[in-house]
Amino acid sequence: MWHDARMIVLRTTDELIEWRNGLLPGTEVGFVPTMGFLHEGHLSLVASARAEVGRAPVVLSIFVNPTQFGPNEDLDRYPRDEVGDLRKCEEAGVDVVFAPTRPDAVYPNRAQGLPDATWVDVEGLDRHLCGRSRPGHFRGVCTVVCKLLCLVRPTVSVFGQKDFQQLTILRRMHGDLFLPGRIVGAPIVREADGLAMSSRNTNLSAQARQDAVSLSRWLAGVRERFAAGARDREALLHDTVFASGRIDYVELVDAQRLEPIDLVDAPALCAVAVFFGPVRLIDNTVLVP
Ligand code: AMP
Repeated sequence: MWHDARMIVLRTTDELIEWRNGLLPGTEVGFVPTMGFLHEGHLSLVASARAEVGRAPVVLSIFVNPTQFGPNEDLDRYPRDEVGDLRKCEEAGVDVVFAPTRPDAVYPNRAQGLPDATWVDVEGLDRHLCGRSRPGHFRGVCTVVCKLLCLVRPTVSVFGQKDFQQLTILRRMHGDLFLPGRIVGAPIVREADGLAMSSRNTNLSAQARQDAVSLSRWLAGVRERFAAGARDREALLHDTVFASGRIDYVELVDAQRLEPIDLVDAPALCAVAVFFGPVRLIDNTVLVP
């Protein structure tokens, strides 16, 4: 009766493997990988995992994965609050938290001073959107998620559609490598004013926090134009001004192949990435004709 038991916090991969090996064969396991500084978006993934596995254990990992950050990105500034995260996990009914103490916990060769050698790279799907702006980012994401799936051996893993490109790439990796369990996508959770929840929102200045609402407002405008019959790129993607924000990209792509399109005649993704000061925010909406 897992959900009655106290939450377990595991600190090393050995502890995680031992815990996993102790489960009876055939036990379902739900899994929610995160980088911590948890918000309602993360907790909605926990709720989805719980709905999938019933009373079976739900595992949430908290690991700020160094290999998915570029040299000039915000690894050092990435927000952390382990005490708050563990409290939220307990309240949300998480059974097991994997929160390694060492930053290199899932890169064992680093402890011996060796360079990273093993990578999982999904080619093609990272050519546009975040893959174009953040070279190597998805290689880092795929590598760490592959490692975590091998360790946790979940029967279901839940990822947010907030990171639509990540979800698409991970689905592909999961299928191609015959990784365990199923992948479930969960909808974007937003603040009351529409801003997509993100751990990075905490690093926004008061002014930038106000300006950041322009992303979801603009996407709502795209959806309105789409509902009114607009189908071509020009008609859908105009007025791309995001207050004080500096655009990284504004893109319209095919929702499966993630390649830019001029006309929406199949499910499409409109995605944006905008810098507010040093903070880079992303948001998206799916358009289904
Ligand atoms: P992160 O901690 O940012 O790496 O995110 C961990 C997981 O939570 C990923 O699957 C994200 O897509 C998901 N996630 C982050 N923000 C949201 C949100 N606002 N709504 C739904 N899922 C989210």
